[in-house]
Amino acid sequence: MVKFNKKIKIENIMEGKKNYNIILVNLDGMRRDKVDFCPSLDKLKKQSYFFPLMDTVSPYTFASLHAIFSGMYPSKNGVNGYYNIFKFKKNEIKTITQMLSEVGYFTTCDIIDDSVIPNQGFDDFNIFDEKTVNFTKRHSQMIKDLSKKDKFFLFLHYTETHKNLVRAIVQKYELESNDDNYFRSQKENDKRYNSYLSSSDEYISTLMNTIEESGIADKTILIIFSDHGTSIGEKKGEKFYGVFTYEHTINVFCFLCIPGIQGNVINKQCRTIDILPTIAELSGINSNELKDVQGESLLHLIKNENIQEREVFVETGGLYGPWPSPEKHNVFCLKKNNQKLIYNDVPQTWEFYNLEKDPMEKNNMYDENSPKIDKFKKTLIKYFKDNEIKTKLT
Ligand SMILES: [Zn+2]
Repeated sequence: MVKFNKKIKIENIMEGKKNYNIILVNLDGMRRDKVDFCPSLDKLKKQSYFFPLMDTVSPYTFASLHAIFSGMYPSKNGVNGYYNIFKFKKNEIKTITQMLSEVGYFTTCDIIDDSVIPNQGFDDFNIFDEKTVNFTKRHSQMIKDLSKKDKFFLFLHYTETHKNLVRAIVQKYELESNDDNYFRSQKENDKRYNSYLSSSDEYISTLMNTIEESGIADKTILIIFSDHGTSIGEKKGEKFYGVFTYEHTINVFCFLCIPGIQGNVINKQCRTIDILPTIAELSGINSNELKDVQGESLLHLIKNENIQEREVFVETGGLYGPWPSPEKHNVFCLKKNNQKLIYNDVPQTWEFYNLEKDPMEKNNMYDENSPKIDKFKKTLIKYFKDNEIKTKLT
């Protein structure tokens, strides 16, 4: 175990030490509320900065990951619909991988498919076969091999939970085409979801042991996050994710483990697009590179306790559900100060929730005459204009 030096402050940690390896791990579809049930992750809360109030800017895998790799909202980076996976503005956008490569990192990844993240800037691009892969073994070996490099960036995609869940639900429900049953079975769905947690937890603890055993623990930053949550049937119409922008799919989490820093829980709202500028700051990337990036470094939240709450915009368009829209996003939300405004462009409806009093989003408090809600609306419409999003309102 790396010893914590309590005298080291985050401001000083990177002074003259820009040579840390960076391992970025995506636990695909991991719900934030399940972190507490995973002993390794739970323990990690005391050994890292934990951001439980992180939201994804789009609740499905490849829109979420393209936003993370570009630090930009989906409509700005081009991947703003299930059918727009190949529309990433690759000639205009420099990804975090490219930035790291330019400052001397060896860049590599292991993912399910070469289209789920921007394939640019990688020295080595690995794709696993989901049917046969043993994530724990394969990713541990990758870390062992990489430990001989001067400094490396490794992105790991863990899809075991997602795979098992989709398989089980499709087997049980899709063939029957009796969706109501699924939404009436929340307890059973929750139990099923929980049954996959021990594998995820073992995966994380093995990776951490491997980092330790390979002798790179004192120079490796480990970032663990989830790209979106997963429904267990909370809202009718959404069996998995990507249909709506409710909390169980947009609220994710992030662990930032920096050697020698004990960290703590940062209870401030932040966004997945903040991961890129955080990595940039930790690796000494010139801030000029970030001029088009829409996220902000998470380190600023750590350093400044009085910092203003970060607003988050979320966009999606379902492949299925009540108003599918894989060509372009049609469901949007703005979340700030524990309140959320949702706009469904089809069928043009609004929702407003007080998340503190109503975390399950059951009581729609939308009121056209409320000045507070009007302010939220104006901010959301400004977001549409700034990001050239065409809706029935803009
Ligand atoms: Zn995913």
